[in-house]
Amino acid sequence: MIREHLLGRGIRDQAVIRAMREVPREAFIDETLLEYAYEDHPLSIAEGQTISQPYIVAYMTEALELSATDRVLEIGTGSGYAAAVLSRIVTTVYTVERLGSLASSARQRLDLLGYTNIVVHEGDGTLGWPEHAPYDAIVVTAGAPQIPKSLREQLAIGGRLVIPVGASSYLQMLVRVRRIAEHDYRTEELCGVRFVPLIGAEGW
Ligand code: SAH
Repeated sequence: MIREHLLGRGIRDQAVIRAMREVPREAFIDETLLEYAYEDHPLSIAEGQTISQPYIVAYMTEALELSATDRVLEIGTGSGYAAAVLSRIVTTVYTVERLGSLASSARQRLDLLGYTNIVVHEGDGTLGWPEHAPYDAIVVTAGAPQIPKSLREQLAIGGRLVIPVGASSYLQMLVRVRRIAEHDYRTEELCGVRFVPLIGAEGW
């Protein structure tokens, strides 16, 4: 997986590669799918949701331009896999999941695996998690109709938000927003992606 799907497709950030090596993806999927754990595909988890393909997890993590002292907010905990990868690179990961059953199973799984710097919260992540803001980086792992204002506002100055945005709920452009100053944001388009919809007050 590392050699073929990550290094082979241009992932270069050493901290990202190390984190992807450390986190056992097989521990985040259903046991009936074990043989596919290290193939570069999204896989079904509970509640009709998916765990992203490894390349996209690595690509989005790299796009966040993380440093070890960062505090990161993830929207869309799902299985907890991407949160686990982020937690190997930064100080603290705050992750929000709207479906209670996924939030509690991810929390349980992450505890069991010994990830102690991840906090899982059940709620509508389109509104962010104001209590712990501002964040050095925010990553959204579900597709939004537009960039939620609440998420922009919870970025630290210099912070990066990486989010799939698109008019169709299953096909999006991955976008990076950088907060340059209090009222100055720069937006870049990164690549086309396909995520399950981000559902909530500032989502679908
Ligand atoms: N990062 C996950 C993949 C998540 S799939 C992993 O590594 O496994 C997208 C997730 O976003 C789903 O679990 C879905 O329930 C969740 N989601 C959708 N809308 C949301 C919202 N408004 N707030 C929080 N989570 C949301």
